[in-house]
Amino acid sequence: MTEPECLFCRIVAGEIPAIIVRETSNTLAFRDIAPKAPTHVLVIPKEHYADVATLAMDDPALAGEVLATVADVAAAEGILGDGFRVIFNTGALVGQTVFHAHAHLLGGVAMDGELTG
Ligand code: AMP
Ligand code: ZN
Repeated sequence: MTEPECLFCRIVAGEIPAIIVRETSNTLAFRDIAPKAPTHVLVIPKEHYADVATLAMDDPALAGEVLATVADVAAAEGILGDGFRVIFNTGALVGQTVFHAHAHLLGGVAMDGELTG
């Protein structure tokens, strides 16, 4: 299912350009337009789910595929060994602005353990 007004569904459909770094049958990974780290890639299910909680409850196997793509991109970016951070903002309260489930894969720079920001 796709949402015609959803930004990330439109990227999946090829209607909005993105720098795609990996594509599988069910997931897509592309560079964040406003990177917060040397590696900042968004990994999404191609199918529309509003957030990771909905995704995980409705299709846990697909949620696993998203995480597998995160790991594959981390390896391709050369940050699997050094380490990286994965964030799923879930809800407007914590800063989710695009309501199509997405993992932020962040790495390539040292970060402290502070989780709020
Ligand atoms: P969130 O705040 O967790 O919903 O994250 C949404 C992310 O999407 C932000 O980091 C934005 O910089 C990013 N973003 C918005 N528009 C685009 C776009 N057209 N291509 C790539 N990333 C985008
Ligand atoms: Zn969508």
